[in-house]
Amino acid sequence: MNYSIYLLPDCITFIFGLCIGSFINVCIYRLPREDMNIHHPRRSFCPACLEQLRFWENIPLISYIFLRGRCRSCKTSISLRYPLVELISACFAVAVSLKFGLTLTGLIYYILLSSLVIITFIDLDYQIIPNVISLPGIIIGFIASFYLPGMSGQESFLGILIGGGLFFLIAYVFVKIRGIDGMGMGDVKLLAMLGAFLGLKGVMFIIFISSVIGTLSGILVMIQNRSFTLQQKIPFGPFLSIAAMLYIFWGEVLIIKYVLWLRGI
Ligand SMILES: [Zn+2]
Repeated sequence: MNYSIYLLPDCITFIFGLCIGSFINVCIYRLPREDMNIHHPRRSFCPACLEQLRFWENIPLISYIFLRGRCRSCKTSISLRYPLVELISACFAVAVSLKFGLTLTGLIYYILLSSLVIITFIDLDYQIIPNVISLPGIIIGFIASFYLPGMSGQESFLGILIGGGLFFLIAYVFVKIRGIDGMGMGDVKLLAMLGAFLGLKGVMFIIFISSVIGTLSGILVMIQNRSFTLQQKIPFGPFLSIAAMLYIFWGEVLIIKYVLWLRGI
């Protein structure tokens, strides 16, 4: 029996994910820069020598391997991040299609995950979360909540209110007491967006999990720096994004396990 026919849809989904990953790379590179946008310049180029890329140099993953990670013109090495982002996007596409099927629900979650990949890498580079993603994301998430299983407009609204509102309050109090901007408003808007897509339960899960991951990472950084004061600001967007990803794929299972553990079962 020929099993390869069963793998064909997953292969197509994987290639689709790679192509979207290529677009995600463009967004990560261009969105924070004021002199360019998604449409301009039209063609992709090498960031080092500004040489325009030819068609065959722009194929996701393949071109990186074929060019051995170097620009054809100036031989500057291309960041490993480009193929990595393409791979992450492709894995998400396959994972979403396996969990939710080729459905509207799957597509909505894939769009959300892709936005989180963009947000994560921009936050790591610039310590900002672009409004151009988070603000429309709140509205799109609210509309999507009418289609997503286990979600409703009311649940989405509560998610926005508690996610955005609660964190806004924390950020506000932090600025008043400590006089420093500990939690950026970008994180607040991102949490409102996640609340819109994933509801109140999702927001609670994300706040809890991201705090755990954030604290552990903070301790690791302190050990690495051999200093017990955390001076440098750690971007929080990636932690929120990882927590949201965990919720989409394993949220229900993890919550049930946690409740059983609390009850000592
Ligand atoms: Zn170059």
